[in-house]
Amino acid sequence: MAHSTESDLDDASAHDASAHDASVRDAGEATRRRQLFPRPAHSILTRTGGFLSGFTHSLQPYSGCQFSCRYCYVREMTVQRANPFGLPWSRWLAPKTNAPELLWRTARRGGLEAARIFCSSATDPYTPAERKLGLTRGCLEVMARHPPAALVVQTRSPLVLRDRAVLARIPHVLVSVSLPTVDEGVRRLMEPDSPSVARRLDALARLRRAGLRTQAAVAPVLPGDPAALARALDGCVDRVVVDDFFRGDGAGGRRSRGALERLRAAGYERFAEPGMAAEVARELRRHLGSERVLESEAGFNDLGWASSV
Ligand code: SF4
Repeated sequence: MAHSTESDLDDASAHDASAHDASVRDAGEATRRRQLFPRPAHSILTRTGGFLSGFTHSLQPYSGCQFSCRYCYVREMTVQRANPFGLPWSRWLAPKTNAPELLWRTARRGGLEAARIFCSSATDPYTPAERKLGLTRGCLEVMARHPPAALVVQTRSPLVLRDRAVLARIPHVLVSVSLPTVDEGVRRLMEPDSPSVARRLDALARLRRAGLRTQAAVAPVLPGDPAALARALDGCVDRVVVDDFFRGDGAGGRRSRGALERLRAAGYERFAEPGMAAEVARELRRHLGSERVLESEAGFNDLGWASSV
């Protein structure tokens, strides 16, 4: 598999270039503070179950993640607890250097045709290192030639824009961008190393203009004005999925204790209680229409948009 490089990005406009520059700055800053452990993996597709029961597999081109969302429940899971590097979550990243090759082998055996793939559930496929390594892009190239029955690309990074031409060649794909709040102050409090709200909204709008199906994942819902959220999303997403800490972390909120304490300490007690996702979803439905607003597990697993499923 030939991986794409920066020189392949001949469809990038001047606007892209400036967004990419910002991505590079983000990536550079993040990478300076984090250690990379590139190594080949034994497998690339993992059978799903539980929360992602609508999917057959998850695809993680990376182990670990360079974003350090304060609410990330993956830090409470085996991938972090058993990490061999002895580093805290978000301080290490293990790129699976042979990810596209492994996926290619699966594709050649016909293993992708019926697959419903979620990319990714325990990392961000556009973690800053992806800009140089192109492992996610390499996997997308494989799926453009051997399309799965459905693919959801879940990210919080505008770097996904780089791959919109490849994504457009995959028939049943939905690009989901995490946007738990449109309050930039809250974003900085809970996702200090992640791209800004404005850049994520811009990415969603441009992905949709490129003809891609888009989703905003308001998950976990963070403090902010739901009406402002609805106004920001209308026009740039096909649908929204709302979730909270209590349903979304797979442990009734136990994996999110630190994030909930942080919210309470900052004066956002209401958002640290169950029920906010339903309340925000109601408000979003008032503005966007009920068919465009889904909730929690049922929402993430709704693959009705993929005619192949
Ligand atoms: S981007 Fe996802 S996997 Fe990475 S730290 Fe944030 S919540 Fe965790």
